[in-house]
Amino acid sequence: MNALAATSRNFKKAAKLLGLDSKLERSLLIPFREIKVECTIPKDDGSLASFVGFRVQHDNARGPMKGGIRYHPEVDPDEVNALAQLMTWKTAVANIPYGGAKGGIGCAPGELSLSELERLTRVFTQKIHDLIGIHTDVPAPDMGTNPQTMAWILDEYSKFHGYSPAVVTGKPVDLGGSLGRDAATGRGVLFATQALLAEYGKSISDQRFVIQGFGNVGSWAAILISEAGGKVVAISDASGAVKNSSGLDIEKLHKYSIENRGVKGFSGGDLADPNSLLTEDCDVLIPAALGGVINRENANDIRAKFIIEAANHPTDPEADEILSKKGVIILPDIFANSGGVTVSYFEWVQNIQGFMWDEEKVNSELRTYILKGFKDVKDMCKTHDCDLRMGAFTLGVNRVARATVLRGWEA
Ligand code: GLU
Repeated sequence: MNALAATSRNFKKAAKLLGLDSKLERSLLIPFREIKVECTIPKDDGSLASFVGFRVQHDNARGPMKGGIRYHPEVDPDEVNALAQLMTWKTAVANIPYGGAKGGIGCAPGELSLSELERLTRVFTQKIHDLIGIHTDVPAPDMGTNPQTMAWILDEYSKFHGYSPAVVTGKPVDLGGSLGRDAATGRGVLFATQALLAEYGKSISDQRFVIQGFGNVGSWAAILISEAGGKVVAISDASGAVKNSSGLDIEKLHKYSIENRGVKGFSGGDLADPNSLLTEDCDVLIPAALGGVINRENANDIRAKFIIEAANHPTDPEADEILSKKGVIILPDIFANSGGVTVSYFEWVQNIQGFMWDEEKVNSELRTYILKGFKDVKDMCKTHDCDLRMGAFTLGVNRVARATVLRGWEA
């Protein structure tokens, strides 16, 4: 199922559980604004290349719209739309004062040089600068982008509007980025997993983990889980997959993957088939890469008891149904990976206050937010007698619906 259809289906299910008025339902579903821009840049060899960029601003009832910018060949309007909608519910679940947005450029960042990426980012920023802003829409990194990308956006935006560090989050620390932001999504995944396992009388150190994806989110999740005593038995990335039933040495694997641009060939484990990684024997499966990877084709073969959605929309609604029948517990994306945007919020607050927090404060505040979020999600599960995905969706959608009604419908 396409990402937008899947996300909208979950939203509609939540709207029904909440008994939302149909006009309100429609207004919450349709994006506030969709931007599509053409970005032409000279390549290093002097030829011209054109790329299409998007920014979907989904909802701003609870505050400035917030969400990452993705550079990936598969970026398309429907996917960006779905991801923007997920950000609206995610920021509401985390209870941070934001709405939701997402952006992307259809490109293969690995095939562009650093200066081509810089030119592309600057042209994209020139096209959207008057539609983003500290109190309107605040971009951040996502797949294929990083703190350097944010630094270019900040610089280009500042040429039009004056120096404005709070216009993006996930910046380099030297430019006002927050300590702890780089690891934040992975650390949030750790805290969320600890909270979930504790409900079942289990802990990180007695579980075997499989992680799909070894980018920013997957690698930090792996590092922090193994530091907490968890055994990571298989990992994949775009280059391939490795497994070791006694547990991979994550520190070594991380170093290896940076030096060799991927996990493939790592000697501390056996070569594994990346296509069957999701169905490897383990207790906890953490998809931390692309969307839609758990679907009706493989859901029946999944052997994990818990799935922690570090990626956005990794599980198709059809797979959700199959897994629920099998008794697999899924911690949904809009809660499980909310650590990134939560620390983005801390970064924005620090920029606006002009006061920098130490890393300990960032991590301990993040823990507080994740634990509160987990409690709020579980309360909604009780109220609506539903699974964790619907618990999170009803929580997020209800908060946005309340804000929308309070602000009023007057034109
Ligand atoms: N791209 C991340 C996400 O999907 C972070 C967004 C942000 O920090 O604004 O949640």
